[in-house]
Amino acid sequence: MSLKILVSIDIEGVAGVMHPEQTRGGCSEYERARAWMTDEANAAIRGALTGGATQVLVNDAHGSFHNLLLERIDERARVITGKPRTLGMMAGVEQGCDAVCMIGYHASAQTAGVLAHTINSFAFRRVRVNGREMGEAGLYGALAGEFGAPVALLSGDDVFLAETLPLFPGAIGVETKCAQGYAACASLTPTRACREIQQAAQTAMSRIPDLRPFTITGPLECELTAQTPGLADLFSQLPGLERMSVCALRFRADTMQSIVRVLNTLSAMSFMLR
Ligand SMILES: [Zn+2]
Repeated sequence: MSLKILVSIDIEGVAGVMHPEQTRGGCSEYERARAWMTDEANAAIRGALTGGATQVLVNDAHGSFHNLLLERIDERARVITGKPRTLGMMAGVEQGCDAVCMIGYHASAQTAGVLAHTINSFAFRRVRVNGREMGEAGLYGALAGEFGAPVALLSGDDVFLAETLPLFPGAIGVETKCAQGYAACASLTPTRACREIQQAAQTAMSRIPDLRPFTITGPLECELTAQTPGLADLFSQLPGLERMSVCALRFRADTMQSIVRVLNTLSAMSFMLR
């Protein structure tokens, strides 16, 4: 029997990561953080394969989308790397995955989580879908749901897990650190975090038959708050976006895939005003 797993890995929720410089290419601390990220990806791969997965895809899902040290990734996995790509942090799910593991994820913008943001902290103050506040895990979890894939495992800080686990009943959460501020935390060591992620990934495989994909039933409406009036001016250029107030905009969509693609387009546009 085949069991295909997508491991989508970000960096802000990785154990030991708490400073913006650890997430930015070109900073020396980033080189250590991307090695920890690579180790957590490997832990999830090993756990999934031990637990019965027959195929593992890893989606490198932070910033440039090329952070993982490929020469150190478990050779039994295949890595999706580089950008832009249509399904962003969830690319690979269209290949018929049975479940998704979200590793190193973080809490949504305007929460008390470590390095909390939603897609792009420069661009967006908050994102709502059908009135519900959504972070990256919610948005991309609902996108995975459109492809029939449930979320089986989540790792990140305590704030991330508290806001996200209720969306995915039956999923296992691994708390890699406890938030003590935007750039402060009480963290597990990388070694301990990897051990817990590996064990949880192994256990999560046996629970997949009981999981249901997370879906938001349409019609869908996305409301977003831009970080500045200038960004809202820019975002208003895209047809389909309706300006509600100085910084608030909204648009309608038929699918979560459309919402994610519009948000990623706006995020890319925002680089013009950096
Ligand atoms: Zn990230």
